[in-house]
Amino acid sequence: MFIYDDELESFRRRVREFAEKEIAPEAERLDREGIFARENLKKMAREGLMGVIIPKEWGGMGLDYRHYVVAIEEISKACSSTGVLMAVHNSVATYPIYRWGSERLKEKYLKDLATGRKLGAFALTEPQAGSDASAVRTRAVKEGDHYVLNGNKVFITAGNEADVVLVFATTDPKKGRDGMLILAVEKGTEGFTYGTIEDKMGMRASTTAELVFDNVEVPEENILASEGEGFQMGLAILDGGRIGIGAQAVGIAQAALDESIKYVNERIQFGKPLRKFQATQWMLAEASTRIDASRLLVHHAATLKDMCSYTGATAISQVARLRGSIGTPRSRKYTRGQAKSRK
Ligand SMILES: Cc1cc2nc3c(=O)[nH]c(=O)nc-3n(C[C@H](O)[C@H](O)[C@H](O)COP(=O)(O)OP(=O)(O)OC[C@H]3O[C@@H](n4cnc5c(N)ncnc54)[C@H](O)[C@@H]3O)c2cc1C
Repeated sequence: MFIYDDELESFRRRVREFAEKEIAPEAERLDREGIFARENLKKMAREGLMGVIIPKEWGGMGLDYRHYVVAIEEISKACSSTGVLMAVHNSVATYPIYRWGSERLKEKYLKDLATGRKLGAFALTEPQAGSDASAVRTRAVKEGDHYVLNGNKVFITAGNEADVVLVFATTDPKKGRDGMLILAVEKGTEGFTYGTIEDKMGMRASTTAELVFDNVEVPEENILASEGEGFQMGLAILDGGRIGIGAQAVGIAQAALDESIKYVNERIQFGKPLRKFQATQWMLAEASTRIDASRLLVHHAATLKDMCSYTGATAISQVARLRGSIGTPRSRKYTRGQAKSRK
């Protein structure tokens, strides 16, 4: 059994009530008919759930990762599609703009994303670049004050629905990870179209799309990671993103267990409910233990993420303070660290 503190427990209860009332009732139909969960995203935006980890000044809830994983678990329990859309939007599309974006990029997109007026997506995967993220071939060529993008992405969650997509590209595929950069590309930009939308077995109310870039002009101000920074930033983004996907898996598993418990209570065989048989109890006990263990791991990862951001920033700022004015130039390695650990 995982123990939440009072405040986290009351947040969980609030999200659970919302999810059971507003998200769960339509989940099965949306999944069966493959209808994009747009209405759920609008409802979640009204609850603040499209910007859980973004500070209030930018339109978010200003909460930490532990709250974020609690919310993802509860939403995923009600609807796995809405869970993945929420996870991608919050942690790998919106958060990177807050964490690493220039003031200009934040002004352009952050408030709209954190309040859910706009939907975000994250486009790294290509046919030859799956686990090997450094094999990206989508090309970005600098021409004056903009980049020209050519290439295609596959398996992009909500890629065909999102208003802003973070696109990984390379200035030269031969450079591998050293050539990678990230650009924010807007829906509707000339030359940006969609190919195959995957016909998936599950999470069918979330789309998984191929994106095509044919001489797409992206203004230079839309750069999130410059050439050579894209790969490291991508890994850092995925570190956070995976915690949310872990929470999503816990929510889906818990929903399956809850359904099974309901069923074994109702189903009568040999004159008694299935729950009375020891073999059934063993199966449920094992599933429950595994889910609790997974939830603990997810919360451990979320707590470390919260602590690292805080501890890293505090330690570095102390070092910088102790070194007085010598601690300020950008070239010093600890002040570079400070910029990196800024939450
Ligand atoms: C529903 C869904 C949504 C997605 N959403 C997004 C998204 O929003 N944005 C995005 O960019 N991508 C997205 N993806 C793509 C996803 O990130 C990739 O599927 C993932 O990176 C793995 O790549 P791959 O599928 O090409 O598998 P591969 O890289 O081809 O791997 C196949 C198998 O080989 C194993 N393997 C690979 N390399 C090694 C190795 N070195 N050692 C041992 N085993 C290895 C893998 O673990 C896997 O089991 C999505 C995928 C799905 C299914």
